[in-house]
Amino acid sequence: MSNFEVRTYDAAGRLGELTVPRAGVTVETPTLMPVVNPHVQTVAPSTLESEFGAEILITNSYILHGSDELREPALERGLHDLLDFSGAIMTDSGSFQLAEYGEIDVTTEEILTFQYDIGSDIGTPVDIPTPPDVAREQATEELATTQERLERAGEVDAGEMLVTAPVQGSTHPDLRERAAREAAGTGLDVFPLGAVVPLMNEYRYDDLVDVVAACKRGLGERGPVHLFGAGHPMMFALAAALGCDLFDSAAYALYARDDRYLTVRGTEQLDDLAYFPCECPVCTAHEPDAVREMADDDREELLARHNLHVTYGEIRTVRQAIRGGNLLELVDSRARGHPTMLDGYRTLLDHAAQLERTDRVSKDAFFHTSTESARRPEVLRHQQRLDRFELAGDEVLLTEGSSNSDYDETWGVVPPFGPYPRGLSETYPLTAEVPDRTDRRAYEVAADGVARLVDLHPDVSFTLVHDDWPATALERVPDRVRLRDLHARE
Ligand SMILES: [Zn+2]
Repeated sequence: MSNFEVRTYDAAGRLGELTVPRAGVTVETPTLMPVVNPHVQTVAPSTLESEFGAEILITNSYILHGSDELREPALERGLHDLLDFSGAIMTDSGSFQLAEYGEIDVTTEEILTFQYDIGSDIGTPVDIPTPPDVAREQATEELATTQERLERAGEVDAGEMLVTAPVQGSTHPDLRERAAREAAGTGLDVFPLGAVVPLMNEYRYDDLVDVVAACKRGLGERGPVHLFGAGHPMMFALAAALGCDLFDSAAYALYARDDRYLTVRGTEQLDDLAYFPCECPVCTAHEPDAVREMADDDREELLARHNLHVTYGEIRTVRQAIRGGNLLELVDSRARGHPTMLDGYRTLLDHAAQLERTDRVSKDAFFHTSTESARRPEVLRHQQRLDRFELAGDEVLLTEGSSNSDYDETWGVVPPFGPYPRGLSETYPLTAEVPDRTDRRAYEVAADGVARLVDLHPDVSFTLVHDDWPATALERVPDRVRLRDLHARE
């Protein structure tokens, strides 16, 4: 039986429940796993739980394994007691250290057994985090090693501990997809997408989207999917729309140490802030000037708390958007925070057909809020399904205006969807709110819809009455369609 259940979808984003049997808890997803450094706790795990509502956290078993002072207490008391946290605890294996320093001194069997012995709820084998842009040969070779370790991980007696199956493959989409398919086939429980941190550090959100989309193709609807190292709230909506369920944040603490202040639109330096653009308890109770004057430790803790409030706030915002069916409107709005986020959103829409597969058929309203809206999966789906409708008669009118009995049948037309049977005018997504001053792209996509309908009915004669469409849209309409402007005098 699967330990992960999806309750509802929006695009490929999903509200789900991850059952963690060893912890005896069910974690709602998408969610954040704060990274807790066993040696340095900027915000105590018990505070993460009581004040921020953390249901799950992640810590590094390799650090505990190598620590003279913490190794024995972890084994004797168990992780939950050591960290004072009653939710689910996931442990990492040292793969990150392997990537940073080139070698580590444990095997997958040793570190998984150690994770089990210290009471971890979700354990991780030692995979090979292949960085972006490496040659295909290297990525393939390292993938074989990762796959072999996943197989060995499957053989370790882990009791009720869930075990992750990391997906690697660098920036080669076909390798990522294959690795994901193999990971899904292992029978392991959680699927971290590995070695994507360099992409995020370099603001390569377009490449990140391609990598995640490839992994998702291989995983199918298996889950939960963990975007390893993704802790900046600015990108949660984008990643959630692709079907990522778990994020982990070391950023809240690391950024705080450098006086960096997280927002959903990007990162600010404390020095640059005259005002705190945030409603959290930290920002309503303090002025930036006063925080700058504080002792290092106090300032770091306050900034970490603000960073956590913003990060958890964005998780709730993403959940509500999935539930409300407006996740893509949220992605659209977050994409305006940074040009590279816009690249990420545009790349997401390159995968509209993939998102369409799980997107719900009906939602409250489609808000056409940008040029990108015309490329959303709802538009694609509408145009793909034009072959499901019968056309009665030889003379058909497609119009943005009213019906005309001179024709055998009248269909409506609305940018960006294109033509639709009038009976559908009150159904999603044709109830879309589209601005009066919409952009050229919406008309062009509507024209593509007209072209598709016309191609489906070679024996029907069509007339299109449009409301001042631009020439770039009209030239996409097949030549045999008679064109009339809605307001032209005849
Ligand atoms: Zn704040």
